Amino acid sequence: MAARLFRGSRRWWGYRCALPSPARCSHSGGEERLESPSAKKLTDIGIRRIFSSEHDIFRESVRKFFQEEVIPYHAEWEKAGEVSKELWEKAGKQGLLGVNIAELHGGIGGDFYSAAVVWEEQAYSNCTGPGFSLHSDIVMPYIVNYGSEEQIKHFIPQMTSGKYIGAIAMTEPGAGSDLQGVRTNAKKDGSDWILNGSKVFITNGWLSDVVLVVAVTNREAQSPAHGISLFLVESGMKGFIKGQKLQKMGLKAQDTAELFFEDVRLPASSLLGEENKGFYYLMQELPQERLLIAELAVSASEFMFEETRNYVKGRKVFGKTVAHMQTVQHKLAELKTHICVTRAFVDSCLQLHEKKRLDSATASMAKYWASDLQNRVAYDCVQLHGGWGYMWEYPIAKAYVDARVQPIYGGTNEIMKELIARDIVHDK
Ligand SMILES: Cc1cc2nc3c(=O)[nH]c(=O)nc-3n(C[C@H](O)[C@H](O)[C@H](O)COP(=O)(O)OP(=O)(O)OC[C@H]3O[C@@H](n4cnc5c(N)ncnc54)[C@H](O)[C@@H]3O)c2cc1C
Repeated sequence: MAARLFRGSRRWWGYRCALPSPARCSHSGGEERLESPSAKKLTDIGIRRIFSSEHDIFRESVRKFFQEEVIPYHAEWEKAGEVSKELWEKAGKQGLLGVNIAELHGGIGGDFYSAAVVWEEQAYSNCTGPGFSLHSDIVMPYIVNYGSEEQIKHFIPQMTSGKYIGAIAMTEPGAGSDLQGVRTNAKKDGSDWILNGSKVFITNGWLSDVVLVVAVTNREAQSPAHGISLFLVESGMKGFIKGQKLQKMGLKAQDTAELFFEDVRLPASSLLGEENKGFYYLMQELPQERLLIAELAVSASEFMFEETRNYVKGRKVFGKTVAHMQTVQHKLAELKTHICVTRAFVDSCLQLHEKKRLDSATASMAKYWASDLQNRVAYDCVQLHGGWGYMWEYPIAKAYVDARVQPIYGGTNEIMKELIARDIVHDK
């Protein structure tokens, strides 16, 4: 293990040392830290009681990474519809991938809050291109939690280094919200499986090296949920075809793609976990995906608020700054209040999740509430920018279009309400 730590550059070693591990203190303990409402800026380093000074050191390095390695190139990647593979390897070298995956499995071994620091800093950079969080905090946990030793050894170190990019393929042209309606199927052929079907809207799909594919393995099961399995499908396998990169309203630098599987022969070792347990695994992992979306949503709201505060303080109308108008001040007061109240709830969800106590309904509340808020904040912040807010060169325009998908993916907000409602009406 020590050899692995020393292998990289000084920089790599430095980051890894600075990173709080789950076993060490993961929050501030006795330290006095400001909460968001009292901080100078909502995006300040050194605030919020869920973090410690070790997280702050890590945050500084992550912020620098996004400022130096992502922001200057993002416009180019928006035109290309994908980020560079080189960026993934740079992120791997900096220890930004697989942050919350245990070192013994080949991850970085940081605590859950350190992973959240990476999500937040990406949101503060206003660059949605790199699909790091889906790779590190959605796909990698499935492999670690349900994979065999062989699968973990094969995939996790490569994914931590950024040499392998991960994606998850649940949605199909005819099945999104209703996951039990998937038609992609895998049939046994000796000890192998033959995979057929197609997936759509797959984040990291175009660049992916490994895709976690949801497929039906037992059509006769008592319910569709009992006949679904997960497979690890690697790029380059015969019959695995990547379709076009999809043209989207926002997330322009994100390589969302269609994927096709035509008689793909998979060895038995491609099955993740147990046969027909896939739906159960999805239900276990979806709360983290929803919490991640909520975190990105409130962080993007914090970014938009600061961007707008700055703009209205500089823009002059009728001989005064826009910020001088009382109606504008009240709008800013409303926005800040809504964002800080949401931040308090999402931080409490992060704390619950860190203790493995976040339930599905609470994660759904966070996702629905924070992503709806993000869109209201985006609308108001564009309005406060006037016509310049509609111009692509202004960060707020990009933040506005990028916000729109948040209530849609990871389970639509209507589905979130359905999950919350079920929890209210049915006895636990
Ligand atoms: C940019 C982007 C990236 C994505 N990335 C991925 C990815 O990496 N992997 C992946 O597998 N998927 C991904 N998705 C797919 C996403 O998760 C689905 O689009 C989403 O779950 C909705 O499914 P759908 O598009 O089929 O809509 P539908 O299920 O057809 O829903 C249409 C409408 O009906 C409503 N509706 C459906 N059922 C109910 C109900 N029971 N009660 C009330 N209303 C209902 C929905 O809320 C929605 O308003 C991505 C999508 C986008 C746009």
